Amino acid sequence: MGSGTSHGMPVIACDCAACKSKDPKDNRMRSSALIQDDTTCIVIDTGPEFRIQALRFGIKKLDAVLVTHSHADHIHGLDDIRVFSKEKSVPIYSNTQTLADIRNRFDYIFKCTQEGGGKPHVELFDVKNYTPANPLVIKSVTLFPIPMKHGCLDSTGWRIGNTAYLTDLNFLPEQSLQMLDGIENLVIDGLRERPHTTHFNFDEALQVVSKTTAKNVWLTHLTHDFTNEQLKVLFAEKKRTLGLPSLLNRSIEPAYDGFVIEIKL
Ligand SMILES: [Zn+2]
Ligand SMILES: [Zn+2]
Ligand SMILES: [Zn+2]
Repeated sequence: MGSGTSHGMPVIACDCAACKSKDPKDNRMRSSALIQDDTTCIVIDTGPEFRIQALRFGIKKLDAVLVTHSHADHIHGLDDIRVFSKEKSVPIYSNTQTLADIRNRFDYIFKCTQEGGGKPHVELFDVKNYTPANPLVIKSVTLFPIPMKHGCLDSTGWRIGNTAYLTDLNFLPEQSLQMLDGIENLVIDGLRERPHTTHFNFDEALQVVSKTTAKNVWLTHLTHDFTNEQLKVLFAEKKRTLGLPSLLNRSIEPAYDGFVIEIKL
């Protein structure tokens, strides 16, 4: 539902050529994903545009929220899930550190207060005990968390069948890399060309890609440094020039808001 970095794109008050682009693919909301079939609807991250994303992508119910980590661009739209929690609370799954931050940042949700206009009803679940051998089952969807590091923060990626969604990381532990074994589709944080202290840049993301089995790859959490069209050219060039021959027979594309992956469970 979103493919942009924390500023989104266009960036407020930015007059750069990329922010002025008329290509709809250069309008990047904050990064998030929707996992949906006939029976189940799960959202990964509720950033500041969650309301707009829910309207744009027609979310009518919500069975669970998976949270990657607690940065504002991934959780600050959480209040808007209240419309989905009138009858029963919505389960939220994440790592220990993120759940503690959610309790703190959204303290009103967990206090007994006069409700007024309403507040979301949620239940928090720590994912530390879910593994490939003991996956999390949410109605028709089976998935498991992938531990990652995002600077000093714990960030959680998610594997659903043949697909993995890994955003906001600059380190993927060896054990987590093994959890990607057999994937066909990979969405991975590739912030920009220059290095960053808490995100993979393009080359670092592609190094990780080269160690996986993913045939179809999308880089996400993109800044305004490049338009979608420019990124397509850049990634095609990187496949040839990075010295990673295993990238040659893969599709490597920039993510854009609204792109769809058909997941095999
Ligand atoms: Zn982020
Ligand atoms: Zn700009
Ligand atoms: Zn982050």
